[in-house]
Amino acid sequence: MALINEHYLKLRGGYLFPEITRRLEAFRVAEPAAAKRIIRCGIGDVTEPLPSAVIEAMHNAVDELASRETFRGYGPAAGYEFIRETIAQHDFRGRGIDVDASEIFLSDGSKGDCGHILELLGRGNRVVIADPVYPVYVDTNVMVGNTGEALADGGYGGIVYLPCTPANGFVAAPPAQRADLIYLCYPNNPTGAMIDRRQLRAWVDYALENDAIILYDVAYQAFISEPDLPRSIYEIDGARRCAIEFHSFSKNGGFTGVRCGFTVCPREVAGLTKDGRKITLHELWQRRWNTRSNGVSYVVQRAAEALYSPDGKAQVAALVDHYLTNARILREGFEAVGWKVFGGVNAPYVWAACPDGVSSWEMFDRLLQDANVAVVPGAGFGRCGEGYIRISAFNSRDNIDTAVDRLRKLSW
Ligand SMILES: *Cc1c(COP(=O)(O)O)cnc(C)c1O
Repeated sequence: MALINEHYLKLRGGYLFPEITRRLEAFRVAEPAAAKRIIRCGIGDVTEPLPSAVIEAMHNAVDELASRETFRGYGPAAGYEFIRETIAQHDFRGRGIDVDASEIFLSDGSKGDCGHILELLGRGNRVVIADPVYPVYVDTNVMVGNTGEALADGGYGGIVYLPCTPANGFVAAPPAQRADLIYLCYPNNPTGAMIDRRQLRAWVDYALENDAIILYDVAYQAFISEPDLPRSIYEIDGARRCAIEFHSFSKNGGFTGVRCGFTVCPREVAGLTKDGRKITLHELWQRRWNTRSNGVSYVVQRAAEALYSPDGKAQVAALVDHYLTNARILREGFEAVGWKVFGGVNAPYVWAACPDGVSSWEMFDRLLQDANVAVVPGAGFGRCGEGYIRISAFNSRDNIDTAVDRLRKLSW
């Protein structure tokens, strides 16, 4: 009989979202009328329709495929030149950042890439991950065998967890011990925190000193609203030698259903063979794409390109502004009733501290019962998420206004 990858058996059964679904369903059965009023501020999925520049580009691309003269079949595995050049120009060179089109690899979204990259790396790397964290970084390391068993406290053996709390502004400093692989996500999911240039510089220096690789997730880059914050790790000198950056069009362009993102793998980032030879990851990543994929749909590549047109940029800015205004309304609403809130300024998530002694699941239940508002309990993102809830600003303005009205009427 075929053997399985037993590392999968270490995974704690997808706990967070199934448990939320179970509680919502129980509520629906118990209180069907109230359940109809539920406002979902939980899952991090966009709610507003695609920008019209994107719709137009997709229609045009479909028409091209409909005619023999302009039909296209297989394209380059890592994306057409037109989109890789557009990205390199608008996201990097136009901002004075040295990234070449050949270092950009288009994909069907960055969630996948965050896991696929581990295919290039050996086993036994020491992995550093923030707590609380986007669960994908942890689970993909479990799946490839980089961790030990699940621990009673919710973590996995072998991973170095860095607590992110109000004390460090939810931005951990590099650890004292050596590490090989470091996951950073700023603006952060779930805390909504943002890293500053000095803090990011410390991580790049640490990586260069330790020959470590930083996997830098900027899925929420478009939400950075304050000046002088780093939008890309390549704004920091030396990052081209130690960092791979993951981008997504899901949250800025509303592409969660369209599916497109890209990974930047600079030519200088390298890893070691067991006998001490340096190998650049760029060549391995290119090889991986050529072997495993025929790339992203042509229609979707044209859709992504449209996000960079003048109309597209203006429409993306309006979408981002909509969600950030929602975040501000949520922040102010929670603060008005005496909550301590974080995030929501450079990110579409507000991270709110539960009143003293109330656990994040208790708070989830109370908000569901008393306000009919669904959030995500922070404990689902890691030990240090206990005592917090994540409220998503991805919603219509009406829903956000209603949710805040209901919060104000609660007495805790
Ligand atoms: C939403 C999100 C992504 C993007 O995933 P896609 O596969 O591009 O939709 C990546 N990282 C984080 C932390 C996210 O929240």
